Amino acid sequence: MMPHAKKAKVFLSDNQHADWQDGALWAVRQKRDIAAQSVPEWEQLREQASQIKEHTLSNLDNYLLQFEKNAIKNGVQVHWASDAEEFNDIILGLALQNKVSKIVKSKSMLTEECGLNPHLENVGIEVVDTDLGERIIQFRNEPPSHIVLPAIHLKREEVSETFHKKLQTEKGNSDPQYLTAAARVHLRQKFLGADMAITGVNFAIAENGAAVVCTNEGNADMGVHAAPIHVHCMGIEKMITRVEDLGVFTRLLARSATGQPITTYTSHYVKPRKGAQMHIVIVDNGRSKHLEDANHRSSLKCIRCGACMNTCPVYRRSGGHSYGSVIPGPIGSILGPVHQIKQKKDLPFASSLCGSCSDVCPVKIDIHQQLYQWRQEISEKKLVSRSKSFAMLVAGSILASNSMYNFSGKMARWAIKNMPRKLIYNKLNVWGEGRELPDIPRQSFKEWYMKNYK
Ligand code: SF4
Repeated sequence: MMPHAKKAKVFLSDNQHADWQDGALWAVRQKRDIAAQSVPEWEQLREQASQIKEHTLSNLDNYLLQFEKNAIKNGVQVHWASDAEEFNDIILGLALQNKVSKIVKSKSMLTEECGLNPHLENVGIEVVDTDLGERIIQFRNEPPSHIVLPAIHLKREEVSETFHKKLQTEKGNSDPQYLTAAARVHLRQKFLGADMAITGVNFAIAENGAAVVCTNEGNADMGVHAAPIHVHCMGIEKMITRVEDLGVFTRLLARSATGQPITTYTSHYVKPRKGAQMHIVIVDNGRSKHLEDANHRSSLKCIRCGACMNTCPVYRRSGGHSYGSVIPGPIGSILGPVHQIKQKKDLPFASSLCGSCSDVCPVKIDIHQQLYQWRQEISEKKLVSRSKSFAMLVAGSILASNSMYNFSGKMARWAIKNMPRKLIYNKLNVWGEGRELPDIPRQSFKEWYMKNYK
């Protein structure tokens, strides 16, 4: 797998585009700040949400069984999948059993994680992603680059080009209203012709067996209300205990994600409509193992708001695709190595460790601490590159010795001033590729201090 830094370089080669994404995501972050500041009890809400998740994760087995019991009582068919393969087969089985040929699907990162679309498409079933951003990237055969704003890496001119090719819209017309109207007409036909609707799940309530889905476009509801079969797919960590707790999360989720007070639709799917089938598929796919990992289990609290991505200076400048993971950004850099440490070993290093991600996280995950923890574990497992290990070894011995530190400082000040530029700014100095060192002072702070305050 190409490392994050190399993929980021590809994204950054179009500087204008990178600037645009940086600005667009920062604007979302600012909206989030205004929304959060408008709730005086914001910090208490975050603490409460964190504790509810902690409690639920600590008793997950009991709550999952309670949820299943209540869902079955409501007339829902509950399925359990231990991994992605089993999950895909359950959905395919349901489709084949019911002669389904057309499926509409609202946003679900779990189905991305398990590769559900290709699994169904391989046997000729049409799967249409109905979230507007998801549909755009589905047309372009690209993965999402953000968990809430899947097509944020695209400018409207690019969307216009895609729609022109796929929906025969007017060439060059990139008016957002015009493009949205075209998508609406296209999707409405898909909703009306679907045999099955699939949704993700934001929260699953143990107390009453309901699956709660939050959207802004109402696409989950359109699918569920029109199709005779609806299937809701959830990871085991989506569980919360009581209906009363839901309000804590709905107040945090949309404000953290986009700065809205609440998502436009918060739908509680409790039982099937008359004559319809409702299924819930509960998926593990490595989550139980993750739960056992004391160092990283708190990342299972994540409610997928995307705030850590919007604020992260590395994510904003490197683009979501550079992470090579279904979940990119700071949270993705913790989740990736949990399941694939060798393939995702570079991700925890794609961070400035500034802590901004932890500050905005609505469920108080200590994201930057976990990234730091991962760096240590990856180093202990000897998975860092030789050049990085060597650099750290040298830095370690210099920082451990007062005289070595003073001498190195002197040498560096002399070298930077006197050596030809090419010897300092070259291919070996990755740091210097996008940066310039400040003017080098004549003396170190220590020397200055000794002279002036002896
Ligand atoms: S880690 Fe926190 S901030 Fe990031 S997506 Fe999850 S809940 Fe949101």
